[in-house]
Amino acid sequence: MAQILDGKKEAEKIKDEIRKKILNLEKKPGLAVILVGENPASKIYVNNKEKDCKEIGFYSEVHRLPEETQESTILSLIDKLNNDEKIHGIIVQLPLPKHLNSIKITNSILPEKDVDGFTFVNMGKLLTGDYSMVACTPKGCLHLIKQTGILIEGKNAVIVGRSNIVGKPMAILLMHSNATVTICHSKTKNLSEITKTADILVAAIGKAKMITKNMVKEGSIVIDVGMNKDENNKLCGDVDFENVKEKVAFITPVPGGVGPMTRAMLMQNTYEAFLNLTK
Ligand code: NDP
Repeated sequence: MAQILDGKKEAEKIKDEIRKKILNLEKKPGLAVILVGENPASKIYVNNKEKDCKEIGFYSEVHRLPEETQESTILSLIDKLNNDEKIHGIIVQLPLPKHLNSIKITNSILPEKDVDGFTFVNMGKLLTGDYSMVACTPKGCLHLIKQTGILIEGKNAVIVGRSNIVGKPMAILLMHSNATVTICHSKTKNLSEITKTADILVAAIGKAKMITKNMVKEGSIVIDVGMNKDENNKLCGDVDFENVKEKVAFITPVPGGVGPMTRAMLMQNTYEAFLNLTK
C-alpha cells in the first residue's frame, strides 16, 4: 500500500514559510495576472491565484480583459507591468483566445518577472542548467518527488506527456537531478513496457485513469499531473489511483496532489523574483 504524497499539506507549509518571511517587510512581492476572455476553468485558476496572494500577503493585480481584446493592448499592458516597481511576477493565463499569439505575448514578459517560466529565455536557461524561473507544475512535482526521501540520481524516470508546460520541463528537471529520463507521448509504441521500467513515473497526459496497475513498477513513485473528469463527472487524474496505490511505494492523489503544489510554486517563484529584483 502506497504512502500518499499530500500536496495540499506540503503546499500549505510552503505558503506559510513565505508568509512568515515577508511578514515584516515594508515592500511586498507583487503578482500581476492577465486574464483574457471567459474560459470558466481559467477564471477559477485566476481566482485561486488572487486568493493565494491575499492569504500570503502579496500585493496582487488581476487584469480581466474582454475576449475580443487586441494583441497590441495586451502587449502595452505587459510593457507597463514590466516597468512597474510594485510588480515582480507577471502571468498571462492560458489558453488565450484564438486570435491572439500566445507565444509572442508570453515572450513579451520580462524574463525576470516570468514566474510561469514560459518565456524562451527561461526555457533555454532550464535546458542549460543555469535556471531560476521554472514552470510551476514540474517544479511542484520535483518537490513532491524529493519529499519521498528517495535519491533521484540513477533512477529510471518516465514522463508520459511532452507539453511545453509540463512534460518537457519535467524531463529536463529530472535529468538535471541525474535520473535516466524517458519521454513518452501519443506516438510511443508499447507504452506499458516503458512505464513498467519507471522508478519514477510522471503522468501528464489528460486522459482519465489511463495509467493502470499493470503499467507501473512495484515500489515506484507515481506523480499524477492529470486533471480530468471521471464517468461520474468527478475530478480524477491520469492514474487509476485506487488500484495503482496497491502496488507502488508513493503516489499523489487527485485532487490534493500536484494541483496545490502548482499554486504554491507560483507563490514561491513570485517571492524569488521579488528577491532577485530588489537585491
Ligand atoms: P497537453 O494536452 O498539452 O499534453 C498531453 C500530452 O500527453 C501530449 O504530449 C500527448 O502526446 C500525450 N498523450 C496524449 N494521449 C496519449 C496517449 N494515449 N499515450 C501517451 N501519451 C499521450 O496537456 P498538458 O501537458 O498541458 O496537461 C496534461 C494534464 O495535466 C491535463 O490533464 C491537464 O489538465 C493537467 N494539468 C494539471 C496541472 C496541475 O496543476 N495539476 C497543470 C497543468 C496541466 P502528443 O504530444 O503526441 O500529442
